[in-house]
Amino acid sequence: MCGIVGFTGRTPALPFLVDGLRRMEYRGYDSAGVALVGGDPARIEVRRAVGKVDALAEALRADPPDESAACGIGHTRWATHGAPCVRNAHPHLSPDGRVAVVHNGIIDNFLDLRERLRAKGHEFRSDTDSEVVAHLVQECRGGSLIESVARALALVRGTYGIAVVSADEPGRIVVARRGSPVVVGTADGAAFVASDPAALAGRADRVAFLDDGDLALLEPGSFEVRSLAGEPVVREAAPLDFDPAAVEKGGYEHFMLKEIFEQPEALENCLRGRLLPDEGTAKLSGLRLGPREIAALSNVVLTACGTSYYAGLHGAYAFEQFAGIPARIEQAAEFRYRNPIVAPDTALVSLSQSGETADTLAAVREAKRKGALVLSVCNAVGSTIAREAGRGVYLHAGPEIGVASTKAFLCQVAALEMMALLFGRTRRLSGAEGAAIVRALASLPDLVRAVLAKNDAIARIAERHAGARDAFYIGRGYQYPAALEGALKLKEISYLHAEGYHAAELKHGPIALLDEKVPVVALAPRGPDRDKTLGNIQECRARNAPVVAIVTEGDADARAFTEDLVEVPPCPDFVAAVPVVVAEQLFAYHVARLRGEPIDKPRNLAKSVTVE
Ligand code: GLU
Repeated sequence: MCGIVGFTGRTPALPFLVDGLRRMEYRGYDSAGVALVGGDPARIEVRRAVGKVDALAEALRADPPDESAACGIGHTRWATHGAPCVRNAHPHLSPDGRVAVVHNGIIDNFLDLRERLRAKGHEFRSDTDSEVVAHLVQECRGGSLIESVARALALVRGTYGIAVVSADEPGRIVVARRGSPVVVGTADGAAFVASDPAALAGRADRVAFLDDGDLALLEPGSFEVRSLAGEPVVREAAPLDFDPAAVEKGGYEHFMLKEIFEQPEALENCLRGRLLPDEGTAKLSGLRLGPREIAALSNVVLTACGTSYYAGLHGAYAFEQFAGIPARIEQAAEFRYRNPIVAPDTALVSLSQSGETADTLAAVREAKRKGALVLSVCNAVGSTIAREAGRGVYLHAGPEIGVASTKAFLCQVAALEMMALLFGRTRRLSGAEGAAIVRALASLPDLVRAVLAKNDAIARIAERHAGARDAFYIGRGYQYPAALEGALKLKEISYLHAEGYHAAELKHGPIALLDEKVPVVALAPRGPDRDKTLGNIQECRARNAPVVAIVTEGDADARAFTEDLVEVPPCPDFVAAVPVVVAEQLFAYHVARLRGEPIDKPRNLAKSVTVE
């Protein structure tokens, strides 16, 4: 998920490695490191640091490695397995110190591999999934480095972009790709690898992008690509077409847009290895709860702030629908101060993207004091809430830089539905019902892709409403939290006054504000509430309010009310909020862009709210 660089040539590798890591800083990361191969006899030296590349540069100054080394690899890590600390930072070494590995992605079967290696006497120095790759390469040694790496990768399940160096073959780097980008390049007498072309711009004369299943061997001035099975593969090398402004933010105008478009991949990472179609349930090992413990729970209290609160409201509906267990959401500051009733058989589910939200953390501590079973749903691995809860689910959404949360929200919804499914299967949910939920969850990345394809159409709708001063969002059922989230997105980044309401609540007050200048975004995909919401749209039209309707593809009735329609693919009501929220995100994004607002850093807002 984060950054890889590598260099082999006839000049020192370190300046390129450090500069390459800096060029990938925009992606977000928590620690950085390099491994250099040099000396005679050759050996590997590793330097790592928590925090920015500057901290790594400081560590290199404090303890200088052999700076003449002409081969090396580097990494910026965004933790998925194990807290961000020096021990867990990459590169990771094999037990004999002769192999170093940097890895982006997630090794799904690392627990299994680690146990097998431990049985053979391997000792592990980090909590990461990645370290097993270095151990496996040592274990699979025989023939050349590229052959050892191929044998090691044959045992690995999951996603990776990796780069490997060995003191036994100084001057060579072996790289491989499955699900995580890798680009290789050459210049006179040098070869490079990176996970992001930004690191190679102005350095490599020609570059080639690897495909999944490719393995490549880099030597000074050349690279050679083959398949995992060892067959030669041709990957066209071409000059790097580089626009520095476009490479920053991966070619998108804003981090928020980049992150909106990353959502299919974020959801795939969040769901990967966690859905069990045959058993019709979910596997969430981080909860460390067996069926009997789950069955003994009598209620679920979710707690969070902001966008996470709305994901939690959605989650409460899912817990009740799938598991038949009473569930409610409490605003975290309210939870901590109003002395809530918590029983020993209450599961307290705390939600926070950063895992550092002050009020949510305080709620976790209060719930622990009251004896609840505390679970966390966080994106940042090793964050305070995740550590203090001790049990939970990581989102694996990747770093979120835009202040307005997008991909973390969708992954929170997916994580909570998996939890509700797991709880449901210890109760009334049958295997067949569970399997239907598994299928719906597995379709989430495609549902999101279908909405992203409508980006241009949504931008045109936004043009017609960007001049408004106020807006309302309405929905029912699962579309009610989606309405609250849509309004929050719009106000966060466009500074328009927007309010989310239950569609039935409009006539209990806010309808007094409607006129031809106040658009209503109505969420009415097919489902049990669609007809009623269409009725509420009529009420808005009767007050001349322009309506933007988000409906299911082919819903002819909705066309009668408005031309501003966004269609989402047909899907069960309990997942429909996911495509609907993507449409809302794009709408808010385009309104803010048309109004010229600083989308990634809205005024007065912070990414991680660590004050009460
Ligand atoms: N899964 C690895 C880790 O947690 C790699 C993370 C990354 O892609 O930066 O260390």
